Amino acid sequence: MMEKLSTDGDLSFLDENYKEIKENIAQAAKKSGRKPEDVRLMAVTKTVNPVNINHVLGLGADLIGENKVQELLGKLDFLNTDGIDMHIIGHLQSNKVRKIINIVSMIESVDSVSLAQEISRQAGLNGHSMDVLLEVNIGGEEAKTGIALDALSETAAEIAEMPGVNIKGLMCVPPICETVDEDRKYFEKTRLLYEDLSSALKDKADFSILSMGMSADYVPAILEGANLVRVGSALFGARRY
Ligand SMILES: *Cc1c(COP(=O)(O)O)cnc(C)c1O
Repeated sequence: MMEKLSTDGDLSFLDENYKEIKENIAQAAKKSGRKPEDVRLMAVTKTVNPVNINHVLGLGADLIGENKVQELLGKLDFLNTDGIDMHIIGHLQSNKVRKIINIVSMIESVDSVSLAQEISRQAGLNGHSMDVLLEVNIGGEEAKTGIALDALSETAAEIAEMPGVNIKGLMCVPPICETVDEDRKYFEKTRLLYEDLSSALKDKADFSILSMGMSADYVPAILEGANLVRVGSALFGARRY
C-alpha cells in the first residue's frame, strides 16, 4: 500500500500533542512559581505544511516561528495568521531583513551588530520599530550562530542604542547534552546572563522574554526561567526534509 502523504488525513495526533505540551508547560510553570499563561508556546513550523499549521492555530496556538525567510514567505498566503504572531528564529542574513520587516513581530536570532544595524535601518524606512532577542552562543560552539559570551555585553550595549530596535531579551540553543542536568546548566547560565543584562540595560531596554527550550528540553528550560519555549517536532511530528 502506498504511504499516505496527502494532508487531508487524520490530524487528531496534533490535538493530542498540543494538549500534552500545554499540560507539561502548565505543570512546569507552576513548579517554578508561575502561572501557566506566563510561559508562551511557540509552534516551530519549519518543514510543516500549512494545513497542519492551521490546525494547530485552530487549537489556540498564537505564535509561530520559522527559521528561513523564504519558507515563511512561501507559506504565508496559506496560513490563517489573523491575530497570530510570527517570529524569525533562524540565522538571518541582513539582505533578507527588508522582506520580513512588516511581517514578523520579532526577530529572535539577532547575532551581530551589522544585522541589528540593518534592522534599525529597515524599521526607520518602514516607520516602526522591531522587537528583537539577542541569540547567545551559550555553549561557545564554533559551528553555531549566536553572539559569543565574551562579546555579549558590549554587543548588547551597542544594539541598545540603535533607533527602532527594541531588545526584549535573550534566546539560546544549547549544545546537545548527554544529561538533563548538563542541559539545565546552560539554561541557568543563560538566565543569569539575562538578569545581568536586564539590569545593566535597564534604562535602554525593557527585558521581558527569555526564549529557551525545544521539544527535548522545554520542561527543564521552564524550570530555569524560560517564558517562551520553541517546540517543533514534539508538536508536529518528526520533520521530513
Ligand atoms: C527547529 C528549531 C526549534 C524546534 O526544534 P524541535 O526540537 O523540533 O522542537 C527551536 N528553535 C530553533 C532555533 C530551531 O531551529
